[in-house]
Amino acid sequence: MTNGQENTSTSQKEAKRTSRQARRARQRPKWEFDPAGLEPDLYDIPWGHRVAMLAVVGLPMVGLVIAIICLWQYGWMGWPFLAMLIGGWLLTGMGITIGFHRLLTHNSFATFRPIRAFWTIAGALAIEGSPLVWCAVHRRHHEKSDHQGDPHSPLLHGSSILGMFKGLVHAHFGWLFTKYSAQPNLLRYVPDLVNDRLLISMDRAYYIWILLSLAIPTAIGAAITQSWYGAAMGFLWGGAVRIFVTHHITWSINSICHVFGKRHFHTTDNSRNNSVFGILAMGEGWHNNHHAFPTSARHGLLWWQFDLSWIVIRAMEKLGLAWDVVLPSRRVLEKRRLY
Ligand SMILES: [Zn+2]
Ligand SMILES: [Zn+2]
Repeated sequence: MTNGQENTSTSQKEAKRTSRQARRARQRPKWEFDPAGLEPDLYDIPWGHRVAMLAVVGLPMVGLVIAIICLWQYGWMGWPFLAMLIGGWLLTGMGITIGFHRLLTHNSFATFRPIRAFWTIAGALAIEGSPLVWCAVHRRHHEKSDHQGDPHSPLLHGSSILGMFKGLVHAHFGWLFTKYSAQPNLLRYVPDLVNDRLLISMDRAYYIWILLSLAIPTAIGAAITQSWYGAAMGFLWGGAVRIFVTHHITWSINSICHVFGKRHFHTTDNSRNNSVFGILAMGEGWHNNHHAFPTSARHGLLWWQFDLSWIVIRAMEKLGLAWDVVLPSRRVLEKRRLY
């Protein structure tokens, strides 16, 4: 190799190294651990709320353990119960992602009132809080994202290993035991939704949706097997286990997707694109994209980012069931693109 060629390949390597370093530096958010941390009176909430949240977090977990023991003791429960688990998870999961999140919270598209009601009820059946409370908490999350006042940032417990662990637990479900979940400011965060009479009536019926979320799979299990065993399996797999799976996937967006993953777009928080949850959470795991463009109906903004909820919204649009679908322009995308 001549001297000239050597110099070229060294300078190419150098250029590659510099561009890699620049890319890494850009991936780091302009965000630092907030020394103020969490608000001091955050955990000063009524006992009733604590007990209710303990049931919401704990009972599906107990159901999962019982379902696994039954599987161990009595063998395979049968395909209908697996279908109920997966079908129920897809329906109520999309109730959250398409209904509560993209439609109600961010107005990413418009649709007919019965379809809006359908997605709202599907979301309520996931038992992640009533529609108004869910949307108010989530709008506050966007307002304060990863700074003091964020209901579920994993990054406000300090930068030590223990602090990071505590933060992840807080972001996953610990925040349900705080004031943000117990007393969300509905008039401030969802003034548009509190004027929607149909939505208010569905919100007030939240306890009925909780009951139906368990009663429907129990009844289906009883009907297809004509037995108490079928009712119990329907309750466990179509009810408790399905709720457990849906809960923990949604909660992982708040915890995992603010810590682990890549940043493709500039934001002022630490939101990340996580491929595992991009797929499992039906598109919501492209969370850095979502924080960069909150009103976009599509979260998987890069061609390879699979976004099931977007596919459904796009299909609705093609069928004339959705309109005013919000998408960022190519120019705006490129402007915020980190690499
Ligand atoms: Zn977030
Ligand atoms: Zn959002």
